[in-house]
Amino acid sequence: MNMLSSDAASTIIRVVIAGPLRGFFDYIIPPELQPFEWQPGVRLRVPFGRSSRCAILLESDVTSPFDRQKLKPIEAVLDQVPLLSGGDIAFLRWAANYYQHPLGDVLFTALPARLRRGEAPLHLGRKGWQLTAVGAVVELDQLSRAPKQRALMALFQEAGEALDREAVMAGCGESQAIIRTMLKRGWLEQCELPPLPLLPRHSSNELAPTLNTAQQQAVTQASEALGQFSCFLLDGVTGSGKTEVYLALIEMALQRGEQVLMLAPEIGLTPQLVQRIELRFSTVSVLLHSGLSDHERERAWQQAASGLARIVIGTRSSIFTPLPELGLIIVDEEHDASFKQQEGFRYSARDLAVVRAQREGCLLLLGSATPSLESLYNVERKRYQRLVLPERAGLAKPPKLSLIDVSNIRLDGGLSPQLKSAIRDTLDRDEQVMLFLNRRGYAPVITCHGCGWLSSCQRCDAHMTLHFDDGLLWCHHCGQQHRKPHKCPACGHSELIPLGQGTERLEEVLKQRFPDSPLLRFDRDNMRRKGSLEKMLKVIEANECSLLIGTQMLAKGHHFPGVTLVGIIDMDQGLFSADYRAAERMAQMVMQVAGRAGRAEKLGRVLIQTRHPDHPLLQILIREGYASFAAEALRERRETELPPFSYQVLLRAESTDGLQAMSFLEQAAQQAHQLSSQVEVLGPIPAPMERRAGKRRAQLLLQANSRALLQGLLAPWVVQLDKLKLARRVRWSIDVDPQEMV
Ligand code: ADP
Ligand code: ZN
Ligand code: ZN
Repeated sequence: MNMLSSDAASTIIRVVIAGPLRGFFDYIIPPELQPFEWQPGVRLRVPFGRSSRCAILLESDVTSPFDRQKLKPIEAVLDQVPLLSGGDIAFLRWAANYYQHPLGDVLFTALPARLRRGEAPLHLGRKGWQLTAVGAVVELDQLSRAPKQRALMALFQEAGEALDREAVMAGCGESQAIIRTMLKRGWLEQCELPPLPLLPRHSSNELAPTLNTAQQQAVTQASEALGQFSCFLLDGVTGSGKTEVYLALIEMALQRGEQVLMLAPEIGLTPQLVQRIELRFSTVSVLLHSGLSDHERERAWQQAASGLARIVIGTRSSIFTPLPELGLIIVDEEHDASFKQQEGFRYSARDLAVVRAQREGCLLLLGSATPSLESLYNVERKRYQRLVLPERAGLAKPPKLSLIDVSNIRLDGGLSPQLKSAIRDTLDRDEQVMLFLNRRGYAPVITCHGCGWLSSCQRCDAHMTLHFDDGLLWCHHCGQQHRKPHKCPACGHSELIPLGQGTERLEEVLKQRFPDSPLLRFDRDNMRRKGSLEKMLKVIEANECSLLIGTQMLAKGHHFPGVTLVGIIDMDQGLFSADYRAAERMAQMVMQVAGRAGRAEKLGRVLIQTRHPDHPLLQILIREGYASFAAEALRERRETELPPFSYQVLLRAESTDGLQAMSFLEQAAQQAHQLSSQVEVLGPIPAPMERRAGKRRAQLLLQANSRALLQGLLAPWVVQLDKLKLARRVRWSIDVDPQEMV
């Protein structure tokens, strides 16, 4: 009888458990933890299988469809206050559902690493001391022989509240020893004080330039929408002053008491942007990116979540940062591929920014010199409003683009005679040259002069790149590395010849041809050490270096006023590809690279080496610019019914023999057919790179002309997929709105 009544009184709660688990789990609160009134968003520890796991509370007081007797009690409550708000949880649930990714994974990836593991949150607060009950009644006269203790005691008794180190310092000159004595005597105790806002909630320094007419118009138009959901595409050529528009709007949002979230591609690459924001606003701003330690990241996250930080600048995952007073989201370089996560939880931070802004009723600004076709189409459909900055700010003129036909030309280390003489002229004028080659290493493959052997990767359908500096052959797809062989592994011949160009080899050739010009190379191999980018940027700024070479790393966001010539060594990688987005990416890359040239008063030019100078899209881009290119590319997409005129989901699968992956996808295709006749099912076909890291890969594409149709199919389809026997034998994943077909 007793048992029953206590049982009936116990609360049932619903939680999400950390890990790749779809769905919810119900538990009961044991009597010793009652009364239970924690809010959704607190972490709990719950028994699961034979171990225990970290979980997040979704709802309390639920009616469970399960037998109450079978529900297990939770083990512990880990937080006093929720880590995620109801709004945060709803947003994450939306994302898990849209991308068909397990909620357990989605909720927990939104948390900093330590919190994900169930550890206690770091304290942001200051340490302080307060009087104990005993200390509060100590007579000061009692301490006349110990003047320092007396002074400290007087300070605390007069204050009547806890004091931090600064206050003690100011009151009587801090002395660790005296404080320790008083702690020992039981008069003082340590305590936690709330974090002190070190900086005002909003404040800007008077550094802003006077905005030009186009900038002013953009700011006015967008600012009218502050306080409600509205999405703007800020379309402005590189150097047109987009960042100034961001800064003006940030200032307005701060003044309204709102927090600002700014997403940028790979933040480590744009120290100049971060510096500009920090110089302009003396309020608390935090950075969130992968270069931070777990502690740094968590501190920044907590400052954002507690409202202490007013500006958050981060890479894609910061779209999930809790921001209680969010009023403005900016996505800089919105076309950038790094906003899409390509593994695990395959979300697009740019697209989620739209959803989040809508849910929270805030202003969203997507900025780019080369907007994605998706965003341009959304402007056409009147979903976004377009703000145009047609000209470079200040005195800078747009650079002149021209093609160099290299189809029948002997190249010297990848350089045509025309490009070489242009480099010579530029260097003679004491101006800087930037050469761009999107391939790191020395050469993409080596071959044997005797038998024609090629350095192929044993685990991938790919070649191994020669990295001369490290003496390695390296597969950029699976990471496999070998020492560079001294003789041919097939026939023993000693002459191994590097084929093609990488950045290391370009560096070598340029050093031979232009020995008097100091050179810097930017690529991932060179940038591994922290701070090396900042150091190199300083060298360039000081004009101590006249030749810059690099991969796409160099193309993003940096401002190099001294560069007047940009050379693109090999355009053709991007022109012909199985991926229908390749042309769009090629055009964006060209314009971004071109944007580095002539950003100051001097005129810049861009020379592009290609074997296909007549390629129609390349021609339009060079002659008429990005807007015309985009219009033409959009027209082609409309005709072929490709995104953004249709919606896609890619189901990928891989297995050791490839057969199981194929049959899994065939069964999946059948299920999809049965679920909907309006969704097109294409494939399965082998992946463009079929063999990778020792696995055979294949894919199935679903396409529909409405997002709702596709979404309607997804949820029941995934449930069925999960039940297939082969689902446990192959590795598979779902990619909603895939950006890459590889
Ligand atoms: P974007 O972000 O579009 O590439 P930036 O905002 O970085 O352009 O501006 C490019 C350069 O022009 C910067 O050096 C910036 O300080 C300068 N600039 C921007 N707006 C103005 C303005 N209204 N008056 C003078 N200089 C400006
Ligand atoms: Zn050989
Ligand atoms: Zn490989």
